[in-house]
Amino acid sequence: MAHPPRRAARIDLKTPIVILVLILLQQGLVAGVWAVMAWLRLSRGPALHWAGASAGVALGLALISQRDHLPVWAGFWLSNGLLLAAFIAFRRGVQLFAGRPLADREHLAMWGLAVAAIALDLRGGLSWAAVAITSAVFAWLLLATAWTVHRHLAGEFGARVAAGCAVPFAVIGAVFALRGVVAAVFPASIGRSVHADTAANVATTMVFMVGGLLLQIALAALVFVRLLLRLRHQSEHDDLTGLLNRRAIQQRLRGEAERLRRYGQAYSVLSIDVDHFKKINDRFGHPAGDEVLRAMGRVLRQVGRSVDHVARTGGEEFWMLVPSTGIEGALQVAERLRRAVGEMVVATPRGDVTLTVSIGVAVATEPQEPPEALMQRLDAALYRAKQGGRNRVELAAGTTDVPAERTAAD
Ligand code: GH3
Ligand code: MG
Ligand code: MG
Repeated sequence: MAHPPRRAARIDLKTPIVILVLILLQQGLVAGVWAVMAWLRLSRGPALHWAGASAGVALGLALISQRDHLPVWAGFWLSNGLLLAAFIAFRRGVQLFAGRPLADREHLAMWGLAVAAIALDLRGGLSWAAVAITSAVFAWLLLATAWTVHRHLAGEFGARVAAGCAVPFAVIGAVFALRGVVAAVFPASIGRSVHADTAANVATTMVFMVGGLLLQIALAALVFVRLLLRLRHQSEHDDLTGLLNRRAIQQRLRGEAERLRRYGQAYSVLSIDVDHFKKINDRFGHPAGDEVLRAMGRVLRQVGRSVDHVARTGGEEFWMLVPSTGIEGALQVAERLRRAVGEMVVATPRGDVTLTVSIGVAVATEPQEPPEALMQRLDAALYRAKQGGRNRVELAAGTTDVPAERTAAD
């Protein structure tokens, strides 16, 4: 049976176009992943922006790859418009993610330049100028995004991670900048851009493919690292005061105990309990009590040095772990703390609250002593401070030569 003669395939299979199609598949797929992330409420605002941006890149590239078979408005202007919207969305997402103000006036100006580029091309016949302008606009948006990642996420993620995540944006931005310069310097090169199977085109599209993938990996890494950092922070900190929680300070205590075993470095622990806190709650209300606890957190942080660890270990009980510190230093810290709390006035809707604390102090000098035994001595010292009339500092009996009755109360 005779087959009808095959018609020539209408699909372009030149290498740069194949690569463009691969990029559009890649970006289309990633758009779906970002949409799922947004649905899961993982960095929702940025994820929605990046879903739109990835879809915009995919659609724009779909149009560009079939440019030969499309009218100019679709193959050139709609495709470039989609890319412009996409790069703006990438940048807005990054600005939201970094908690930066949105640069929407600047983005509006970019749309204005894009319209000017269309006018130059359609009315003035200056295709090279249109390509130079759109390339410069894309370059600016991508380089500005790279800058935001590098500059404003370094505090949260560390300078190296932030710089690494900025690189894909910077590289793609640089390629666009180069394209703009080439268009301005060699106007004759314009018009053949995507159609020609040239080494330059293959190289450029390859950079876009690898850069586009790395860019998406960088964004995903930022979202997941932020999630991990936040989960870790939550697992180690107390919501009300922002201080460490009991588990976290116990871990640091084990670290200090290890240092004492290995290097013979003594450390101290303070146990601080608000006096008659129940009465404060009863008289001023529970929210006022919470405010007092927050104020306690601030004072504890102020009195402690940066190397000290402060935790809220129970309702109105706090621990301070003071590394490399013996009896004298620990008693000084405790006394400073007792005074600072005594001088504090917490304003609440039902009036000003003043309070006092009782503090137990234990010094670890004995490498063989288990941390549990140290905490028992500490508990006993705090109990003695309460029994002794409150608003006082009591030093725990030592395992070896520390006198049991030494106190620093007023
Ligand atoms: P003492 O001087 O012997 O330490 O007496 P106290 O009243 O401070 O101690 P007690 O242990 O009897 O009471 C602690 C109170 O702390 C009881 C509890 O309702 C309150 N509390 C525990 N957690 C919180 C909290 O998160 N917020 C507030 N506002 N109160 C809390
Ligand atoms: Mg108390
Ligand atoms: Mg208590």
